[in-house]
Amino acid sequence: MSEFKHKLVVGLEIHVHLCTKSKIFCGCELEYGATANTRVCPVCLGMPGSLPVMNKRAYEFAVMVGLALNCEIARFTKWDRKNYYYPDLPKNYQISQYDMPLAEHGYIEIPLEGGKSKKIRITRAHLEEDAGKNVHSTGNYSQVDLNRAGTPLLEIVTEPDLNSPAEVKALAVELQRIVRYLGVSEADMQKGHMRFEPNVNLVIDIGGKEVKTPIVEIKNLNSFRAVERSVEYEIHRQLDEFGETGKTMGMGNKSTRGWDDVNHVTVLQREKEEAHDYRYFPDPDLSPVELSDEWLGDIKSRLCELPLQMQMRFVNEYGLSEYDAGVLTGDRTTAEFFDNAVKAGGDSKRLCNLITQAGLKMANEKGCSLAELGFSAEDTAELAKMVEAGDVNTTAANTILEKMTELGEGPRSIAEKFNLIQKNDAGELEGIVDEILAANPDVVEQIRSGDKKSGKARSFLMGQVMQKTKGQANPKIVSEILAKKLG
Ligand SMILES: [Zn+2]
Repeated sequence: MSEFKHKLVVGLEIHVHLCTKSKIFCGCELEYGATANTRVCPVCLGMPGSLPVMNKRAYEFAVMVGLALNCEIARFTKWDRKNYYYPDLPKNYQISQYDMPLAEHGYIEIPLEGGKSKKIRITRAHLEEDAGKNVHSTGNYSQVDLNRAGTPLLEIVTEPDLNSPAEVKALAVELQRIVRYLGVSEADMQKGHMRFEPNVNLVIDIGGKEVKTPIVEIKNLNSFRAVERSVEYEIHRQLDEFGETGKTMGMGNKSTRGWDDVNHVTVLQREKEEAHDYRYFPDPDLSPVELSDEWLGDIKSRLCELPLQMQMRFVNEYGLSEYDAGVLTGDRTTAEFFDNAVKAGGDSKRLCNLITQAGLKMANEKGCSLAELGFSAEDTAELAKMVEAGDVNTTAANTILEKMTELGEGPRSIAEKFNLIQKNDAGELEGIVDEILAANPDVVEQIRSGDKKSGKARSFLMGQVMQKTKGQANPKIVSEILAKKLG
């Protein structure tokens, strides 16, 4: 690898499928995995004479994302035809927004290591329709599936403000969290709901003078790992290429490359970016969109607290670690459940432990969300208070949470029903300790003589007390009694 001093510069283009019930300009149902060409009609097939009608919900979803990305929202937009010919586009044009995107000039805040964050500027976001899909699965020919044609697709373009592969990945992950919080996309990468195209180049310092390497656009990445790795790979490849050819950014040498996920290399697709002439013109079949104050206000009222804000609030107000706050804000229902439980009076760290160690584990096993396990945030707060008060120990608390799922009862009645209330009565526990000591004179002797195995002997006695009390003795009190009696 060449040893030039360099800085990475990346801008991202992201496509997000919006999860409306039907397509953007017709009533066809959006269903992933349906039999090929069964979710189509004259509109999305591009039959002459068919008329598109805008899906209002899709537009609202797109505006919600624009607002969450701190963009200026256009009050007037129109639809344009982007003309090109391809088998998966039978109309020979794609309906898009060309010079009047619905959102512009925003930013997204992305979390970085050590609790820091960085603002990445958003250039624009616009709505368009997705094309169909060419399938190359059988024989010596290709097939076209048009079920996907007409899926509402939000294109988001960032400024080149990203300066490391980790930052590029962080943006991808954060955007996924945002659209899921807003409920506007399932953002399932494996189903192609999100696709990323980084524009990558380097600023190289040659003896105090800065030059830029030609921009490479990496096409169609559909996993976070591919996003991070492909950018990492491009750094090395562009440094090597610059070392060999000295080629710098200029007219006409932008290229596109694909990511080979098996060999972990980018592969050249097109050397020169053709000056595409898409002959954009306003779609004569669709009326422009005017966003009234009332409509915009209605859309704004559907926004929620965003994941990163919530994560930072959990750290600053509830004293959680970055890591725990990140786990709890991984999805909106878990974050809100935890937040409600804290507001119901539970200690935040106890609740965090209960939820991350027992709750999320159960949810994962059952394949549902935390909120769907059947117990309330209030009952979980009550359980945390019981642990705090020493009524139950942490092991019992996890068991109680499981029983709450099965039985649908509150924590206190379950603790009583299953004898999980902790014994805190020092007098009662002292009597039990005395019995155990009397039954094990040799062990007591071993500890008093200062044998090097006395630590193990103490644990044995503790185990005996726990066994005798069926695990209900408060271990802290027992250990104090043992210390008093054995020195
Ligand atoms: Zn249709």
